[in-house]
Amino acid sequence: MSGVDVRSHDRLEELIAADVLDGLDEADRVELERGLAAHGACEECDRLLSQYSEAAAGLAMALDPLPLTRGAGERLLTAARGEHPVATPRAPSIVVRRTRRWLATAAVAACLAVISGVVGWSVAPRPRRRFPPRVRTTEL
Ligand SMILES: [Zn+2]
Repeated sequence: MSGVDVRSHDRLEELIAADVLDGLDEADRVELERGLAAHGACEECDRLLSQYSEAAAGLAMALDPLPLTRGAGERLLTAARGEHPVATPRAPSIVVRRTRRWLATAAVAACLAVISGVVGWSVAPRPRRRFPPRVRTTEL
């Protein structure tokens, strides 16, 4: 997408979040690759790639597999063998793609927020418990 600042980590973060969930079209993939190349060896880019990849892997492991619909396995194998071309589905509209990208970004961000909260809570220093001084009954 031209006109978007590829030096912005905000835009790269959006693209990385969608990419780890395989949600980029070709134009966005090219934009991501150009953005990463423009940054070169960048710690922030490395951090974003690592965190979003880990979050996506965590999402995949958190879901139970769904059973295939009747005949889906056979249709998939047939398509993989190239025996019968499978009708190409219509490309999703840009609104659908942006919605998917937004949902992917929100899902990954939510996972990162939960992970950050748990880690932050577990490493946060705890205040010492203070008890009020005891008042002796003989002092009254
Ligand atoms: Zn960077």
